[in-house]
Amino acid sequence: MLRDEPHSVESALAKVLSQARRLPPQVASLTSALLGLVLAEDVYADRDSPPFAKSLVDGFAVRCQDDTSERRVVMEIMAGATPSQPLAIGEAARVTTGAMLPAGADAVVMQEQVEPAGADRIRLLRQPRAGENVLPQGAEMRRGELILSAGTVIRPAEIGVLASVGKTAVPVYRQPVVAILPTGDELVEPGMTPGPGQIRNSNAAMLAALVARNHALPRYLGIARDTLDSLRPLVREGLKCDVLVLSGGVSVGPLDLVPQLLQEEGVQLLFHKVSLKPGKPLLFGVYNDKLVFGLPGNPVSSFVGFELFVRPALRVMLGKSEPHLVYLQATFAAEFYYRTDRPTYHPAKLWLDEGAWRVQAVPWLGSADLRALTRANALLRLPAGENRFVPGQAVQVLAIDPPW
Ligand code: AMP
Ligand code: MG
Repeated sequence: MLRDEPHSVESALAKVLSQARRLPPQVASLTSALLGLVLAEDVYADRDSPPFAKSLVDGFAVRCQDDTSERRVVMEIMAGATPSQPLAIGEAARVTTGAMLPAGADAVVMQEQVEPAGADRIRLLRQPRAGENVLPQGAEMRRGELILSAGTVIRPAEIGVLASVGKTAVPVYRQPVVAILPTGDELVEPGMTPGPGQIRNSNAAMLAALVARNHALPRYLGIARDTLDSLRPLVREGLKCDVLVLSGGVSVGPLDLVPQLLQEEGVQLLFHKVSLKPGKPLLFGVYNDKLVFGLPGNPVSSFVGFELFVRPALRVMLGKSEPHLVYLQATFAAEFYYRTDRPTYHPAKLWLDEGAWRVQAVPWLGSADLRALTRANALLRLPAGENRFVPGQAVQVLAIDPPW
């Protein structure tokens, strides 16, 4: 049974997380489209790296134990070539960075630390140490060694390591497909000029961007009008995706048909109000293993609802671990007063000031004022009641676009 009093943000989030499941793995090719996805299997080195003892500099490969300072240069080895012979006593090989050392060599003397000593001869300006400027075979990784564990989030360095072990088919958890369904008789698409009483549908584009930023795949369904007949087929379409995100139509007005229609379609509602500003009439339900979010239509409510509830669910589905929401402690740069009847997420600007987080509220007219969010990169978490802050006072901040 759906209880009537609002959930706290924490208990609502716990409900969402209790329903979200990691999606099954699939194999994807090794491209930058893997960035932000999560490895579904352990990855092992297929060979030693480096596969041979290699020179780290341009210079001369030598045997340290030879007791003269002069050497006879008997060959030249470029990166990519194989030495034609081992080094005998008193010999050296000219090598480039990355070149394979000849058998017998145990150090490389930098070019700058050598002087010519007649035809094919060099003099070492100082005594080399064994191992100097050499990366031994297998120093970075050994064949068969575990190099990336399942659960690792793929970043550029991981992409490079996957390439280095020849892993071009990469097992990752599948990306959730997120249906985006804006509702409202007043909406026209962004390319249109709104007529009297109409506004542009800004939520669909914004929600698609939020989905994409979180490494999931947005699927735009078009605008549903405020009738059951318009909503029904689009909701059915949306329920084929992993997640359905609606905007608008979840409040208590006569045209707020979303809760009723979702229930008629078999969606089990798990909460429908959160003690939260902006975005109180937020709705969450499940349909088999699909998640359904009804975000209030006001753009800042949709944005905050996405950040607080949809984003954590997407992270779980992608196989990511906690924390799903990053709260930082920051201090106010200026005085700030805000009175509110419920916990409020207020747009704010967050920055680093000599290594410490500083924050300032941005002017904000409420849930319809999306423009305020373009000046913000964080949300102040303010408790219900009178909030009176002096400069230097600490506050909790949800980082939505950390400034790094
Ligand atoms: P609702 O949640 O349907 O009551 O809508 C609340 C407010 O948000 C109304 O002022 C709507 O016009 C506005 N709104 C609803 N959907 C959108 C949308 N897709 N884009 C921009 N504003 C919207
Ligand atoms: Mg509406």
